[in-house]
Amino acid sequence: MGFNLEQALEEAGALTEGHFLLSSGKHSDRYVEKFHLLRKPTILQQVCAAMVEKLGDTRIDVVAGPTTGGILIAAEIARQLGVRAAYAERADEGSLQRAFRRVEYFEPGDRVMVVDDILTTGGSVKETIAALDPHPVELASVMVMVDRSMGRAELGAPYSSLTQMDVPAWEPDDCPLCADGVPLVKPGTTQQKNGT
Ligand SMILES: [Zn+2]
Repeated sequence: MGFNLEQALEEAGALTEGHFLLSSGKHSDRYVEKFHLLRKPTILQQVCAAMVEKLGDTRIDVVAGPTTGGILIAAEIARQLGVRAAYAERADEGSLQRAFRRVEYFEPGDRVMVVDDILTTGGSVKETIAALDPHPVELASVMVMVDRSMGRAELGAPYSSLTQMDVPAWEPDDCPLCADGVPLVKPGTTQQKNGT
């Protein structure tokens, strides 16, 4: 053990503080920019090794994850386990559903591990689990890197995480940073926060 995910995220520059507009419309004072981790394969490899260790001796045949971060994690964990990976993409352009497209990823009886990077409401993990439905496989494990729901996400299946992270979020009207006049930043843009 001894692996510290928060330290790895910090090392990757993925943990940022400021005044952020989340995709939910709420505001927060912290943001995890997972792409700072995803773009550093050596650190990502260590995170995936910690997930493999947490998995223990559960037998897995295929590691499946949703686009975009989930497929990178699925591929790396599958590589470490010496098994296959599967990628859950949007079923169609703009679709809210996911599907395992392009090739037949699964064999009858495959034991599948579903993985993802950051779980907030659990939408993409749920979609990935649902995308397994048409396939003759067994869901053997669900694991995420960071659980921001603090274990409260309803995925319809038990799941585990490397770490839980309680990130405060406010409605704009209740946001203390707005009240203080701190400039709001939309993460994922190249816009930089100014040092307040
Ligand atoms: Zn605000």
